[in-house]
Amino acid sequence: MFLKKLEIKGFKSFAEEMNIEFVPGVNAVVGPNGSGKSNVSDGIRWVLGEQSARSLRGSKMEDIIFAGSDSRRALNVAEVTLVLDNQDQFMDLDYNEVSVTRKLFRTGESEYLINRQPCRRKDIVDLFMDSGMGKEGFSIIGQGRVEEVLSSKPEERRAIFEEAAGVLKYKQRKSQAEKK
Ligand code: ATP
Ligand code: MG
Repeated sequence: MFLKKLEIKGFKSFAEEMNIEFVPGVNAVVGPNGSGKSNVSDGIRWVLGEQSARSLRGSKMEDIIFAGSDSRRALNVAEVTLVLDNQDQFMDLDYNEVSVTRKLFRTGESEYLINRQPCRRKDIVDLFMDSGMGKEGFSIIGQGRVEEVLSSKPEERRAIFEEAAGVLKYKQRKSQAEKK
């Protein structure tokens, strides 16, 4: 499995629809300060289910919607899609290509889609939970996160290792079952 493409529109600094293509292996995103490099990784984490506006460097979730610039009006919806190559069937879906979309309207409504079909946020979170690509995963270490990982509480640090080891899914299922 690998990330083939990121389609991003109305998310943070991306007013125009942008398609960013990736290749298997190492990809580098380069650009001047403030050009939107971190917004790319924020977009990926957001689709994977990130719910903390603060962790996306905002104060409320609405802050991820393009807020306007000198030459452009603000937008009312943000939409980000990850297109993943699943030819190795790493994800438990019978498709060679899987797309995952998250949309947020300024009214507060959200939409989640897998292969352009509506689903719940939970379906997306479950899909990635043990892939090492979950939003809390070890796979995305943002600016400043290295220090955070090193100084976080033992339980939080443990959760990172648990996702890496693939046991987080079972722990979450257990606690959900206990709540019922
Ligand atoms: P650095 O090299 O300093 O880390 P970067 O390339 O990672 O920079 P980002 O942090 O991704 O840059 O982008 C910051 C830019 O995104 C700022 O100019 C900020 O105004 C813009 N931005 C963030 N949220 C929004 C929004 N909702 N609407 C419009 N622009 C936004
Ligand atoms: Mg940055």
